Amino acid sequence: MTRVNLPETEIPSAWYNVLPRLTSPMDPPLHPGTREPVGPDDLAPLFPMSLIEQEMSPQPWIDIPGEVVDILRLWRPTPLVRATRLEAALGLPDRVRIWFKDESVSPAGSHKPNTAVPQAYYNAKDGIRRLTTETGAGQWGTALSFACAQYDIECMVYMVRTSFEKKPYRKTMMEVWGGQVLPSPVADPNHPGSLGTAISDAVADAVAREDSHYALGSVLNHVLLHQTVIGLEARDQLKIAGEKLPDVVIAPCGGGSNLGGLALPFYEDTEVRLLAVEPSSCPTLTQGRFEYDFGDTAGMTPLLPMYTLGHDFIPPTIHAGGLRYHGDAPIVSKLVKDGRMEAVAYPQTACFEAALLFSRTEGKVPAPEASHGIRAAIDEALAAKESGEEKVILFNYCGHGHLDLAAYDDYLHGRMVD
Ligand SMILES: *Cc1c(COP(=O)(O)O)cnc(C)c1O
Repeated sequence: MTRVNLPETEIPSAWYNVLPRLTSPMDPPLHPGTREPVGPDDLAPLFPMSLIEQEMSPQPWIDIPGEVVDILRLWRPTPLVRATRLEAALGLPDRVRIWFKDESVSPAGSHKPNTAVPQAYYNAKDGIRRLTTETGAGQWGTALSFACAQYDIECMVYMVRTSFEKKPYRKTMMEVWGGQVLPSPVADPNHPGSLGTAISDAVADAVAREDSHYALGSVLNHVLLHQTVIGLEARDQLKIAGEKLPDVVIAPCGGGSNLGGLALPFYEDTEVRLLAVEPSSCPTLTQGRFEYDFGDTAGMTPLLPMYTLGHDFIPPTIHAGGLRYHGDAPIVSKLVKDGRMEAVAYPQTACFEAALLFSRTEGKVPAPEASHGIRAAIDEALAAKESGEEKVILFNYCGHGHLDLAAYDDYLHGRMVD
């Protein structure tokens, strides 16, 4: 079997919450002013209470509202595909098998709508009429614009200025779905911007208006929770394909949401290796320090316990914009710190080499972020080919690169630097 499609009825009915299953508890987020643990009231200006509860929930499973499933049904369940043509190109024996979960089939072309939809839903239910957010490469702003359109609420997107200037078609995608887009930092037209400045702009906007809340596309516990539909479906699909558990689960890591979404449902299967892949130009997990740091540049967000390069770190402008964040999800950080998850970093040319091989064998053109997972999957496969072991590899094809052709042009014509 090379492709496993689940029927619509098999969309998971509950999200997998890793929090109560952790072998030791998470450190709490701290208030930026007092440095005391934040309580639900501190977060209420930004998020609806239902999401604040999910952020700290002790429930092992959290029901997905039917109104959310109705929208997820537009593209879920997503296919699980065996990369047989890539395997052949790598000369792999049948004991080494590569599977990928295809999240590129969503409206925005990435995993991001999996959380954008429930976030917009819970806000709309609470009477919120407008959401503010940040976007780097444009993926999250696009996904949230789509989700807000489903519930008839406004979406205000602050887009990292360099990206705003280089990728006007991303702005158009957001506008097609009804979003409004401004370059960040709004106050300084000469500043290139970063995810950190855009978060500061979006938070300041939401706090200033009664009718508005803020939405974050990664990092937070509830975001990773919503993404667990990916791993839950993949578990079922591997079983249908006749595979036992995968030996290694791989995903690129920017803030950690697509990685958490695929990997967390395998957390309790301690024989399954979990592997985060990051760019060597923004090496948070492999070179950062584990400490409390702000989520944004201006120091307005709660302090999170995470691997970080410092909240004022501005990474080089690599093509994988979604992987240019100074920190990581506290859940992912904890798993790495505790030794439950591994991390590896790659320079971008090595990732595009893998992306090109994938394009020419499997026919799919990966997002620059997704190329990182493909690189690691190929290297895991080649290591197993060499060592003689049996290995089932599962990676997240977290997004397509149909709007990233300028990056491929750089790579193909020798202009890409690491
Ligand atoms: C946003 C994005 C990422 C990085 O975010 P995570 O929260 O780490 O998943 C990776 N890949 C794609 C396609 C994205 O859009």
